[in-house]
Amino acid sequence: MKFANIIIDISHEKLDHPFGYIIPEELENRIFAGTGVMIPFGRGNRQIKGYVIEVTDKPSFDVSKMKKISSVIEGAVEVESMLIKLAWWIKENYGSTMNQALKTVIPVKNKVRAKENKTIVLNMTKDEALEKIEQYTKKHATARIRLLKELIDNDNISRRLVTDKLNISDSTIKSMEIQGDIVVNADIDYRNPVTVTSQPEYDIVLNNEQRCVAEEIKKNMNFKPSKFPNVHLIHGITGSGKTEVYMDLIDYTIKNGKSAIVLIPEIALTYQTVMRFTRRFKEKVSIVNSRMSAGEKYDQFERAKKGEISIMIGPRSALFTPFKNLGLIVIDEEHESAYKSESVPKYHAIEVAQKRGVDTGAAIVLGSATPSLESYYRAKKGIYKFHKLTSREKGNLPTVSIVDLREELKNDNKSIFSVKLSELIKDRLQKKQQTMLFINRRGYAGFVSCRDCGEAIKCPHCDVTLKLHTNRKLVCHYCGHTEMMPGLCPGCGSKNIGGFGIGTQQIELAVKKMFPTAKVLRMDADTTSKKGSHDRILSAFANHEADILVGTQMIVKGHDFPNVTLVGVLAADMSLYASDYRAAERTFQLLCQAAGRAGRGVSLGDVVIQTYSPDNYSIKAASHQDYEEFYQEEIAYRKLMSYPPVANMISVFLQGKDQKELNIATEYITEIIKKKRDEHYNKLMIIGPAKPPVSKVNDVHRRIIYLKGITRKELIDLKDSLEDVINCSQNFKNINVQFDFKV
Ligand code: ADP
Ligand code: ZN
Ligand code: ZN
Repeated sequence: MKFANIIIDISHEKLDHPFGYIIPEELENRIFAGTGVMIPFGRGNRQIKGYVIEVTDKPSFDVSKMKKISSVIEGAVEVESMLIKLAWWIKENYGSTMNQALKTVIPVKNKVRAKENKTIVLNMTKDEALEKIEQYTKKHATARIRLLKELIDNDNISRRLVTDKLNISDSTIKSMEIQGDIVVNADIDYRNPVTVTSQPEYDIVLNNEQRCVAEEIKKNMNFKPSKFPNVHLIHGITGSGKTEVYMDLIDYTIKNGKSAIVLIPEIALTYQTVMRFTRRFKEKVSIVNSRMSAGEKYDQFERAKKGEISIMIGPRSALFTPFKNLGLIVIDEEHESAYKSESVPKYHAIEVAQKRGVDTGAAIVLGSATPSLESYYRAKKGIYKFHKLTSREKGNLPTVSIVDLREELKNDNKSIFSVKLSELIKDRLQKKQQTMLFINRRGYAGFVSCRDCGEAIKCPHCDVTLKLHTNRKLVCHYCGHTEMMPGLCPGCGSKNIGGFGIGTQQIELAVKKMFPTAKVLRMDADTTSKKGSHDRILSAFANHEADILVGTQMIVKGHDFPNVTLVGVLAADMSLYASDYRAAERTFQLLCQAAGRAGRGVSLGDVVIQTYSPDNYSIKAASHQDYEEFYQEEIAYRKLMSYPPVANMISVFLQGKDQKELNIATEYITEIIKKKRDEHYNKLMIIGPAKPPVSKVNDVHRRIIYLKGITRKELIDLKDSLEDVINCSQNFKNINVQFDFKV
């Protein structure tokens, strides 16, 4: 006898687990993971819809009490059941309710329906229509004649035009339809976010290196579901043509009757990028992004399901595009932290892509100039296939120099520009070339503190300092709390309080002061909050409407400005102080990306990295643009500290409004973890509990515990058993607990 574990199609927290059913013999060949079924449910045996997530030989409980599946839902959309299976997998692997996982995977249905755009066509040949006209002439049915004449001239006309222009009543149309003269087609017109403008034909031919990589990957693409994911990592410097390789692979995928998903970090999903894809693939391309309404997104997913498009470009959520024939998932800039979801379920797009790849037979292609340590580690171990692109088709590698800011201070230069950087900026202004100045947003820029007692002004609701904005406003970047800068220190009453560190606004002002003739643009969270402003600033800069672009990491991602020949990183250290084991990796990646912005055109480029720690390995390696050098140092550190990718790690994150309650819950769960360690997991390392770097946000307090040293499977089991405890114990009544696998 066979059994099925079934998720039911009712959103209710209590029903958020699979139910076991018996598969009747006659249905055995038709029921698989993903099949939609009707099942009797509850006391009244009401028939409800469910999705099979697993078929097994072992019953989940007493067979004599189990009910039988009633029937298979014919035509239950296969792709939907596949996504439901995926949601189940996400729930199991990352910790969330089934509902949270389903909401992640299947977009919210659109309440405002796409406007129906009906068209009318003849239901007969044109000769027959002419005969009909004669008949109608005898009857003086002039409206009918008007419509038939119009349809003889035009193969189809819109329903609206028939009413508005030809002035034909609904009842006439209805009766002509019933009599079989015409057919009214309901052709749903989905909103299309991509406007394909006429562009020159696509004419790029891959160079040798690019072709070798593309062919190597194609050899491995067979579009068949398999046990192991088929993952390729392309390590290619910026400008080496990774995007051209992706497009070649997409072309191959489409020629094999399959579709492709291209994930791009939101910030790099610009007009420029989309145009490159539409130039080659025209109306086969669609996009989703976070600025679209739920309805617009839903429409794009519907178009994918119907096969209207075969390429979906977008950030993380585009991964769930319901293509029926998925053949390829590209993840560009695969090292980006945005591929990891920060809300429950805290899944990682690369892992979920692999799961979709296994289910559908799609190949996974990861690309980056600075791969994540995890991916590079897996490529070295042979888990991913490794490919390399080493040369730039256009432009040259820039010259990178490191400036020691401590030396500048010794030489009495207190400006935010080193002598070297300011000379180069002057030089570029003279040559009418462009400069980008970059500052790390997550640094300690722009906070206000007292020079006498050292106290920094903090948000009353969060454990962070307030940032100084224009007009002496202090703003919390976590909760939005705003207050005016006080005249006196709230701690000691001293007048000596002021803004420290540097933010983008201060840099903009400093640039204007030092180079009064330069035209300056600024790009950061403040200047890009309005829809479209992001693209506007970038295109203004691309059109050389400014000489200098000042910005946060936003400006270093993927943009191609041929006239930029100088990139200045004003303080490279800032991301080093972030209390995260990935701080060095992030610093290295940011610096390499920033450097990659210079020298995209014909002129040679310069990159100046200003830093207080010129000997740090991530800064040194970035100045040589040497990934391998960085990797060797960093992986040694991860090994020493048992950090991913060498070890598996999960964090248990607890939040509560009441500190006392939170402390009790935290202590309680720590004790349970310790007990589990002593009983089952001898190698488990427990770090914490501790207050995380930001220990309060919006008046909600936070605690964190890190667990590592055991296998991923063991961590998942441990997480499951902790979830059981949390669900049953009163200690967690007002405490929110989140699990986060570090991958
Ligand atoms: P990456 O994605 O690795 O940063 P791109 O694919 O954006 O690199 O390539 C950088 C630039 O070089 C783009 O303008 C691209 O069109 C151009 N390019 C890349 N490969 C070729 C080629 N084989 N022939 C002509 N131009 C190319
Ligand atoms: Zn003070
Ligand atoms: Zn706040």
